[in-house]
Amino acid sequence: MSLRILVGCKRVIDYAVKVRVKPDKLGVVTDGVKHSMNPFDEIAMEEAMRMKEKKLASEVIAVSCGPQQSQETLRTALAMGADRAIHVKIEPKDYETLQPFHVSKILAKIAVEEKIDLVVLGKQAIDDDCNQTGQMTAGLLDWPQGTFVSKVEKVNNHLSVLREIDGGLETVKVSIPAVLTADLRLNEPRYATLPNIMKAKKKPLAVKSVADYGVDISPRQEVLSVEDPPTREAGQKVESVDDLVQKLKDGGFV
Ligand code: AMP
Repeated sequence: MSLRILVGCKRVIDYAVKVRVKPDKLGVVTDGVKHSMNPFDEIAMEEAMRMKEKKLASEVIAVSCGPQQSQETLRTALAMGADRAIHVKIEPKDYETLQPFHVSKILAKIAVEEKIDLVVLGKQAIDDDCNQTGQMTAGLLDWPQGTFVSKVEKVNNHLSVLREIDGGLETVKVSIPAVLTADLRLNEPRYATLPNIMKAKKKPLAVKSVADYGVDISPRQEVLSVEDPPTREAGQKVESVDDLVQKLKDGGFV
């Protein structure tokens, strides 16, 4: 069986950017800030590409729900090797209140429409840290899920999935169709090469609206306040171990 894979590619504020809270304290500053593909989605895309290279997958489709600029993220996915992309366009105002439940409903619809065998998402998006979309998508589709995946192998007609759990590693057998969410150690994503970036410009990118999937994206929660974490106090340099011990004693730490 050759799999049809759908990969979620969320556009998020780049991991290296120092995020700033907006003056109204209802969100963070996004204008003029560098954005990139969610790092766990790069890992998800890499895994899909490796399956394609091993001839386990026939087609890899990248999907991003978000504003116009999400197309840049999709072009990166296409440059990594995805065959085509779907941009589900969400107006910036609606995007502010878009939640994993909404995205899951859209992904589940696409999975059925595109006859997908495997949905591969990141374990979490690094902007809102929700860690919900994979689980909800599996629930809506009534498909099995392998979350926090650090290794995946196709064995006969199922997947053997190694999961990172609190107590160590767990291996589960997952039947197909299924939803997987990528953890950090699954692989090291490739960089898009210049020739592939050029090629990606010509690959198909379909633009859809939420209405095309009949999903209601009205907000189900309201952000009351966003705050910076408390600032850490500056450290002190000491000349010697004796000084250090004295300072610790003075501070009542030992
Ligand atoms: P979350 O549940 O928000 O932490 O997101 C988990 C994963 O779901 C991400 O790593 C993406 O693969 C996928 N996902 C979430 N939001 C979107 C989006 N707007 N567009 C595409 N994929 C998304």
